[in-house]
Amino acid sequence: MNDPLDHAGELERAAELIGSADALLVCAGAGMGVDSGLPDFRGDEGFWRAYPPYARLGLSFVEVADPVHFAADPELAWGFYGHRLELYRRTTPHPGFDILRRWAERKPGGAHVFTSNVDGQFQKAGFAGVAEVHGSIHHLQCLTGCSAGIWPADEVTVTVDDTTMRAVEPLPSCPGCGAVARPNILMFGDADWLGERSQPQLDELQTWRRRTDGLAVVELGAGTAVPTVRRHAELASAADGGLIRINPREPEVRHGRGISLPIGALDALTAIDARLNG
Ligand SMILES: [Zn+2]
Repeated sequence: MNDPLDHAGELERAAELIGSADALLVCAGAGMGVDSGLPDFRGDEGFWRAYPPYARLGLSFVEVADPVHFAADPELAWGFYGHRLELYRRTTPHPGFDILRRWAERKPGGAHVFTSNVDGQFQKAGFAGVAEVHGSIHHLQCLTGCSAGIWPADEVTVTVDDTTMRAVEPLPSCPGCGAVARPNILMFGDADWLGERSQPQLDELQTWRRRTDGLAVVELGAGTAVPTVRRHAELASAADGGLIRINPREPEVRHGRGISLPIGALDALTAIDARLNG
């Protein structure tokens, strides 16, 4: 295990960077949710560990979560997304979210979040200004691409048979045309994803960045497999700030100002917070 005490120098530098920054940019990938008990299913093995029924069925993550398979077998797809929707609804964000929010509240420039996570955990933890680059499971769109746009999933409940991991009828449907709905999540090879909810969030983030100086970028649990979040954190920190990369598996930083912490999100944030307060 990685003990935070083994990284005292880097933790000290991280605390100094956060303490002296005027604004905070949080860049989060799937690893951020692990300490809340959420699965981070990297590769088929990770996916199957999180969802044993799919191992029995011999189905990969890509087969369960791409638009082609969604259209071909929506009960199977909604089995997966319906399960995740309920999981994210009942999950409480771990205390690391509160630590980040407290840091953000002390900054004159405030904070923004850039995340590939579709779980809505930052909003649940009280963050405003969240850019969800891959969309949100808490919003839906029409599978046939009619003009209904994007709508909230708040009223939607999906019943899933635990043995088959298939959703039970009725499936979520489009209020415009009555066809089956799908989550407003960017899936693998997804040409039909509607970006009209995520794009304004990203625009707002860019506007904020343009008028913000003295940025500390805290990147959490963002891997190289889907490098969107890492790239955003690197570009933002290279432009005007310092990067703290918190990642137990892929902690490498390339440019000189990066601080590398090979520790889980909650442990790292707790250790930095202790230095900031002590
Ligand atoms: Zn429709």
